[in-house]
This record gives sequence, C-alpha cells and structure tokens, in this order.
Amino acid sequence: MKDLPKHKGLRNQLVKIVRDKGITDEKVLSAIAEIPRHLFMDSGFIDFAYQDKAFPIAASQTISQPYTVAFQTELLHIKKGDKVLEIGTGSGYQTAVLIELGAQVYSIERQKELYEITRKFLPRLGYVAKKLNFGDGYKGWPEFAPFDKIIVTAGAPFVPAPLLTQLKIGGRLVIPVGDDVQVMTLFVRKGEKEFEKHEFGDFRFVPMLKESQK
Ligand code: SAH
Repeated sequence: MKDLPKHKGLRNQLVKIVRDKGITDEKVLSAIAEIPRHLFMDSGFIDFAYQDKAFPIAASQTISQPYTVAFQTELLHIKKGDKVLEIGTGSGYQTAVLIELGAQVYSIERQKELYEITRKFLPRLGYVAKKLNFGDGYKGWPEFAPFDKIIVTAGAPFVPAPLLTQLKIGGRLVIPVGDDVQVMTLFVRKGEKEFEKHEFGDFRFVPMLKESQK
C-alpha cells in the first residue's frame, strides 16, 4: 500500500480533467486530489486509476468514474458534520470522498464480499465511516434516520420510498434513476410531503439490485 509523489502528480492531472468537465466545487476537487484512488482498485488496474473511468472491482461491481463521484458529491452540498446515508459502498472511494468533506457516513453494501473487503480497507487508509452495513439499500437505514443527505451509487429502476421518508426536511437525495441508462436526479425535501425534483442528464451505473448477496 504505497502512495508515491508520482501518484499525487497523476491525481493533479485527474483533477484538471474533472474540472474541465465542469466540476467547480473546490472542496470536492481537493478530495479527489487527496484520495489515493489506485489503492481502491485491484492491483491489475492500478495503471488506470487516474484515468477518468469506472473500473471493475470485486463481485462484478465497479468503482465509479471520478467525474461521476464528483458530480454526485457536488449536488449533495456536503457540510461538515452532515449525516449522510450512502447506498452502494463498493470500493469505498465515494465513502472516502464524503468523509474527506467532513460527513458522518452511514453506508450500505449488498455484496458480502465487497462489504468485508471495504470494511477492513477504509480504516487502514484513515477513513473511518460512522457505520458500514451489509444489507439491502432499498430499505434505507431506518434505525439511524433521518439523514441530511442520501446518495445512491447504483442505477435505481425507481426511487425507493424509504429513502425519501428518511430524508430530513431541507435534505438532499441524489440518485441515478433508470434501467439501461440513468438520469441523475436530485430531490430536495421541502416539507413533510413536499419534494422538489431536478434532473441532470444521463449516466451509466451497475444496477441497484434487491436483497443482499452472501
Ligand atoms: N461508490 C462505489 C460504487 C460501487 S458500484 C465505488 O465508487 O466504489 C455500486 C455498488 O452498489 C455495488 O458495490 C453494488 O454491489 C451496490 N449495490 C447494488 N444494489 C444495492 C442495494 N440494493 N443495496 C446496497 N448496495 C447495493
């Protein structure tokens, strides 16, 4: 597990690419400049870590494209101390970005293998989530609700109702919605039953699936 000056240099180039694609939030860009993404990937893919691309991780899943991570994080408007629910821990890269921004992260992963790998890996890098769970994110995490922010990192065929109900008033849910292609969608909770919806164009994610996989 090494993070060398050459990796830092490659990260700065990646930040430039992500900035050129339209990300302006300096805190999000600094998080990308800080986090050693190559360590979140299987060693065979390390050379690709600082390209702006998604790559395979364990259990046939992917580490999201840096631009996508930045785009979703920017939409969340993370403030220090925000209580954030993440659905789809995966490699933990997005989790690390949220922690770097000062969020208290509660993250759920439905693949047991990935959950086990990431649960051990993140603290070794110094990224300590508030809670990680192996389970089905369609249900949210009622025990710890409500959340300031909720982020879904898999393609959701529909918006799971529990995620909306577990959002604080004033809270934000960022979720890619669709089957083959997903529309990045932001919900802002305005009142008990009132949600504002904004759509931000097409993205491609691995599917959000039901029930957890041992
Ligand atoms: N943020 C991760 C993205 C991983 S891809 C990263 O950048 O590494 C999406 C992840 O969502 C996968 O790990 C997949 O197993 C998980 N997932 C899919 N359906 C889920 C569900 N219902 N509940 C929780 N996690 C789910």
